Amino acid sequence: ARQFTRPLNDLANQWNTLLSAIAGAERVFEVLDEETEARDEGAAVKLAHVEGAVKFSEVSFSYDGGADTLQDISFEAKPGEMIALVGPTGAGKTTLIGLLSRFYDPSRGSITLDGRELSTVTRESLRSHMAFVLQDSFLFKGTIRDNIRYGRLDATDEEVEEAAKLANAHAFIMRLQDGYDRMLSVDGSGISQGQKQLLAIARAILANPSMLVLDEATSSIDTVTEIKIQEGLQALMRGRTSFVIAHRLGTIRAADRILVLEGGRLLQQGSHEELLQQGGLYSDLVRGSKEAAGE
Ligand code: ADP
Repeated sequence: ARQFTRPLNDLANQWNTLLSAIAGAERVFEVLDEETEARDEGAAVKLAHVEGAVKFSEVSFSYDGGADTLQDISFEAKPGEMIALVGPTGAGKTTLIGLLSRFYDPSRGSITLDGRELSTVTRESLRSHMAFVLQDSFLFKGTIRDNIRYGRLDATDEEVEEAAKLANAHAFIMRLQDGYDRMLSVDGSGISQGQKQLLAIARAILANPSMLVLDEATSSIDTVTEIKIQEGLQALMRGRTSFVIAHRLGTIRAADRILVLEGGRLLQQGSHEELLQQGGLYSDLVRGSKEAAGE
């Protein structure tokens, strides 16, 4: 698989600190430091249904009230679209996701979801409509079945297996001793990195969210598993508004819109073809990645 080279590769540890506890279920948010999170206003509402139309309008954000970490970010995602976030480490990709999932609220500008100001939606209900598939997805000590079921706790065994099939995880699970009853340790030892991702995809499919956040793996995964993951992700992303912190050119190309961030600014946005024609950071990155792949 072709990959962008260094500038995109290192997804700072902050991502893990910020999001590693998240697995599509809101219970885990109890472990987060309430102080650092955006607060719900008294009038904040629970969203029962989400189409997934997201709009950032001149959004700026500063962590400490000083210099802006994100500056004047404007873009739109229509329901079901896939948005790829690219740019060097420190560009602000994770911060943008943090705003989208209301870890933080903008210092200026507005973010809306289905036309509703995001700050008027409770964090819990917002996140109940989101699933996160991260590089290092959260596994707990328990069976594979229970690890997948974590996406929706009242799911039946049949629904768990259906999700695993859609995610392309069923075949490898059936090859394991004990199948769905196989016990996993906390670190998921005994299954590969790629297989962990397939489980995370199955879990997210089961959760059936309107919005998805994906942190694409940078580590090398064998080609066969990589293809299974790509197919599983396609099944997962279909019909959901997806934000992908993308490292693989193949993924980025498939995006409806690519947001090129650097130094907290949105330098370029458009499709792969549009951005290549524009020249600039994106075409530089693509050229660099092709050279790295020996093309
Ligand atoms: P990316 O995901 O593109 O690598 P980040 O959004 O993680 O970028 O970081 C953007 C900038 O914000 C960086 O300069 C980073 O050091 C800073 N930053 C990230 N998280 C925090 C935080 N919790 N407090 C202060 N600064 C932060």
